Amino acid sequence: MRTSAVSLLALFLLPLTAAAGDAFELVQVADGVYAAIPKPTAPMAIGSNAAIIVNESDVLVVDTHLTPSAARALLAEIAALTDTPVRYVVNTHWHPDHVQGNQAYFNVFPGGTEFISHHATREDIQKKAIPSVRDQLDSLPQQIAQAEEQLARGLGPDGEPLTEEQKPQRRQQIERQKAYLAELRQMQVTLPTLTFERSLILHKERRPIHILFFFKGHTRGDAVVYLPQEKVLITGDLLTAGLPFPRDSYPAEWVKTLRAVAGLDFAQAIPGHGPVQQGKEHLELVTQVFESVVEQVRAAVARGLTLEETKKAVDLEAFREAIMSDPVYGRAFHSRVEGTLERAYLEATGELQD
Ligand SMILES: [Zn+2]
Repeated sequence: MRTSAVSLLALFLLPLTAAAGDAFELVQVADGVYAAIPKPTAPMAIGSNAAIIVNESDVLVVDTHLTPSAARALLAEIAALTDTPVRYVVNTHWHPDHVQGNQAYFNVFPGGTEFISHHATREDIQKKAIPSVRDQLDSLPQQIAQAEEQLARGLGPDGEPLTEEQKPQRRQQIERQKAYLAELRQMQVTLPTLTFERSLILHKERRPIHILFFFKGHTRGDAVVYLPQEKVLITGDLLTAGLPFPRDSYPAEWVKTLRAVAGLDFAQAIPGHGPVQQGKEHLELVTQVFESVVEQVRAAVARGLTLEETKKAVDLEAFREAIMSDPVYGRAFHSRVEGTLERAYLEATGELQD
C-alpha cells in the first residue's frame, strides 16, 4: 500500500513539474504566506483556493482542491518555494472541492503529514464526502455521454445551439470532465488524522498558527486558520467572493461565526473561492446579507408563512448591486440567496438536522 502510493506519485511528478504554473496564481500576502488561486485556464479541475504557509522547517497547506492532480500541481509550486516538507494539511470543511486532493499528500514526505480538521468535519468526510465519490462515479459517465451527444448536434448544456467559437470551449470542458472521472476512479479520500473541538495552536518558531472553530456556519465544522503576527485570515467557504454556497449551512449560526471572525485582528482574508480580500468590507457585507435573511425569515415564520410565502416576502434588493459587482461570483446572487433562505427557514422552524 505504502510503496504503491509513493511509486504512483513518482509517475505523476514528472509531467506535472512542467505543468507547474499553469494551474495557480500564487499571491504572496505576507513573508512566507501565499494564496493559491486557481487559474480559469488550468489543465485540471481545481475547485477551491489553497493557502501555503512556509515555516522554518515545514509547510502547512490549507485545503486540497477537487482533485489529486490539482493538489500535485500545488505541491510543484511549493517545491519551487521551499525544500521543506508539507507537515500539515488543514481541511477547512468536508466539501469535495476542499478535501478530494488529500491523497496527494499521503506518504509523500518522510515523517508523514498530519491532516487536521474539526471533529465534525472528519465525521462528515467519512459520512458524506467519501460516499459522494461513489455518487459522482455513478452519475458522471451518463452526464458526459449526454454532453458528447449534445455537442455532436452542435448544442450546449442548456440545449441551445453553440457558436463556432463556443464549440472548442465546450469540447475542452467535456475533456476536463473525462479527466476528472478518471481521477475519481482512483480516489481514496484521506481522513483527518488530528481533530480539534474549539482551537488548535501550532507554536512554530517563525509564527503561531491558530486553527479555530466558532459556531456552525457554511457547514457544521468550519475551521479558519488565523495568523495573528501577519494579520492574515484563511476562511474556507465561510467567506467567498460573492455569496458563499449555502446548501449545508446554518444561517443564524453563520452570522454568529462571521461576527466572531470579524473580531479577529486581520488585514487580509484568503477566502475559499475568489481573490484575496483586503480588510473586512466584504465580510461585513456578507454578514449583513445573512443577518437580513435570518431576521426576515424569522419574522415570516412568526407570522405563520409557508416557505413559498416567505420566499415572496423576503426582500434583499438592497444588497443585490454590491454582491453582483463581482463579475464572476456575483452572478449566483439570486440562487445563493434562495438557498440561504431555505436553510434559514428550516433553522427558524427547528427542522434543521445535523
Ligand atoms: Zn464549501
